[in-house]
Formats: sequence, structure tokens, C-alpha cells
Amino acid sequence: MAMKISQQKFNERLSSNLENDFMRGAVAGAQHRFQTRRSAAVDSLNWEEWRNHGEEIRQHVLENLDYYLYELSINVEARGGHVFFAQTAEEATEYISTIAKQKSAKKIVKAKSMVTEEINLNSHLEQLGCEVIETDLGEYILQLDDHDPPSHIVTPALHKNKDQIREVFEQKIGYTASSQPEELALHARKVLREHYLTADIGITGCNFAVAETGSVCLVTNEGNADLVTALPKTQISVMGMERLVPTFEEMEVLVGMLTRSAVGQKLTSYITVLTGIKEALEVDGPEEFHLVIVDNGRSSILGGEFQSILQCIRCAACINTCPVYRHVGGHTYGSIYSGPIGAVLSPLLGGYDDYKELPYASTLCGACTDVCPVKIPLHQLLHKHREVIVEREGRAPISESLLMQAFGMGTSSQSIYKLGTKVASTVMKPFTKNEKITNGPGPLKNWTAYRDFPSLQKERFRDWFEQHNKGGNPK
Ligand code: SF4
Repeated sequence: MAMKISQQKFNERLSSNLENDFMRGAVAGAQHRFQTRRSAAVDSLNWEEWRNHGEEIRQHVLENLDYYLYELSINVEARGGHVFFAQTAEEATEYISTIAKQKSAKKIVKAKSMVTEEINLNSHLEQLGCEVIETDLGEYILQLDDHDPPSHIVTPALHKNKDQIREVFEQKIGYTASSQPEELALHARKVLREHYLTADIGITGCNFAVAETGSVCLVTNEGNADLVTALPKTQISVMGMERLVPTFEEMEVLVGMLTRSAVGQKLTSYITVLTGIKEALEVDGPEEFHLVIVDNGRSSILGGEFQSILQCIRCAACINTCPVYRHVGGHTYGSIYSGPIGAVLSPLLGGYDDYKELPYASTLCGACTDVCPVKIPLHQLLHKHREVIVEREGRAPISESLLMQAFGMGTSSQSIYKLGTKVASTVMKPFTKNEKITNGPGPLKNWTAYRDFPSLQKERFRDWFEQHNKGGNPK
């Protein structure tokens, strides 16, 4: 899976997903559950103080990123690991592919990692002839289902129900029991166990890397990261270059915020911390450890007007609250990063050619900003993107540019404005029915496809006001 998950145009994805009632119901139900649990987990705390602290930690790291990256790399190497800085996705996949070739790897087990999706790692490894097995249950379901793309950054298979999953398991891994989640999970667990034991390499992402000790911290609910890091002899962790904390003290704060914001839990079931290679008296752990630190466009964001997006800890709270995501679902965004975080991040990492519509997939209501645990001003960043798209990139749709030019001309000339307001209701008459514009022309067409526009009044306010001042009898 690469960052871009669809070749369809944004409007095509939007139309088909808006018609998918099952997906929309599943997303609305999941959002409701996540929001309820999150509120219960944070409302009893002094959450605003936590948020201030979380923001402070993330901003401090970004302001001193060079220092902490250096400290992290020194400490990883001091514990027998290797560090590779990859400027591009290609450099990262090439480095990891070289390790796979050196080890003659046949099978690789992976814990959930968005950055490995972003750099399209699986397909590179599969081209080498490696069997790559996702071990996060959600990712595993999607992989079995012919690489169905994720629709959510924390619960990637959110758009599927248990009957669909049962069908996939039946077709792909010989499942014969019911669609009870417990039975499905048990079967997946049995199949995956075998893979852990026979894998040559384990690959993980990284929720937070601790600079002080060179440790990689992974947060899961299934414990799969424990097995991925403990059993294969060679271990590779891949991290976005900003996913750092100075010490375990900051890690503890951010993990608590991540789990509360993501799924409303004080802690997840498993927090795996991997520090270097297996030592003499240890019974498990890798004999070889590589940390791949991926830039892939992040350093261009650093120091610019969008820097605060690098504070993100990928909790998905913004996705779980977004009213637009609720209606269109994750696949409409066309990126592995969906929802408000995706609408800001995808154009920055993948460019406006592929993602220029995403900043408009928002009502700018600010609900995302209100729930973000590290106080990223998401709706302001979305607005900033729109400004860049229109004013600096000149990419506004032609109809919108023409409309704005006409509006500018009309409002800067008193006589044109007067004439315009006089004829407006007559011009719009053919589109008006029962005092509503239900099928507007030009740029109004898309707007009125989903809601009615109030009809334009025959009597202008200025005429009414004039009449009123003369002591007439305005209607
Ligand atoms: S932007 Fe904020 S709310 Fe959204 S995923 Fe990142 S940290 Fe969570």
C-alpha cells in the first residue's frame, strides 16, 4: 500500500461512498462509540492542563529535533543497533530491501505502521519474493481481503462488519466457524502464531522513540508487536523523523494521552519497548536491530507555516469527531491518512496534484482542533491550505475564480452592485421553486445538489429601508 490508495478522482470517490449506506452507518456508529469512551476517559481529568503539557512536549521536540535525533542515533548504536536516515521513501525501501536480501528472508512479520504504508514497503518486499504478513488484526483482515486500503489510522478495518470478515477468513484462511468476533480473533491468532515462529525478519513502526535510551515504544491492544520484536532474529523499526520524545517521562505522558484520545482507555493492553539487541542473559529479542528514520517530506514542513502538524501523535481523535468523515468515510480521502489529519498532512507529503481537494473536505467547524490532545490548530491549517491553493498556487476551479472576479467587480462598483441586486431575483427565477433554489446554475449546482438555497427576495433591503425611513408601510 502506498500513501495514495485510489486512482479515482475525488468526486468519483465521494459519490460512490456517499451512496454506501452500510459504510456510513458503520462509521457513524464507530465515531459515536469512540467519542463516548474518549469523553469518559478525559472528562474526569484536568484535560486542558494535559493538552498544554502535551503540546509543550511536542513543540520542544520539534524545536530541538536535530539534537534529539542525534542523541537517539548515538544511543541506538551504543546498544548494538544500526541507524539509517532515509531522506526519501525510495532510500528507506532500498535499505530495508537490502537487509531482506542479505538475510535471504522468505517471511517477514509486521506490526502496524503507517509510515511503512506511506513508503509502500510491503510491495517492495513482495517484489523480492518475501511473504509479508501484517499481524495487527485490522491490517491482517485488509491484507487478506486483496489489500483493501485502510479507512482509519487506528482501526484500519472500521468499514467492515463481522460477517464480511467471516467471509474473508473463510475464503483465505480456511475458517469454518461463526461470525462471533471472539472466534474470528482466535482463528486469526492461531494462524498468525505460526507466522511469528517462522519469520526471518520482524518489522514495526514506532509510536515514540526515546532519545535518552535509544528505545522504540509501540502501543498495541493485541500484543502482536511483542511477538514481532521478540521472535525474529532480525528486527527493523521504521519511524517518521518527528516521532521522538526526550525521555521516558515524556513518553509516559504522551502514551496516556494517545490511548485516551484514540480509544478512551487509560492504557492499552500492551506497551512494547524495544531497546537495542538481545543481551547475553536475555531469553528473547533480536540479534540484529535497525532503526530507519524516514524524512520523506517532513523536513520541508519543519520551520514553515504547517510545522504544528508534525506534533501529531496519530491518535485519530480528530477523525473520530469529524462530521465530514462521518458522511464520506476514510476511502474518500484517497490517502492512507484520512480525516482532518489526513486533509492537512496528505497534501504536504503527497502534493496538491493528488490531494488539493482534501482541505475543502471540511466544514471548518473546529471540532477536530477542540479534541486534538496536542493542540494542533487543524481547522486553521485547513484554511491555510485553501489560501495556498487559491492565492499562491492559483489552483482554484475556473468557475470559482470567475465567480469571485464577478463578485469583486460587482461589489467594487456602486452602479453594478445596484443593478445586480435589482436583477438577481429575476435571473434566479427559473431555478426557484417554492421559495427555494433547488437546482442552482454553475458553481451553485454542487451546493444545491444536497441542500436548498433560500430564494432571493424581490424587494431589496435598501428599497425596504428607504420606504421605512419615509414612513411608508414596508412589508
Ligand atoms: S491531529 Fe491531533 S487529534 Fe488528529 S491524529 Fe494527530 S494528534 Fe490526534
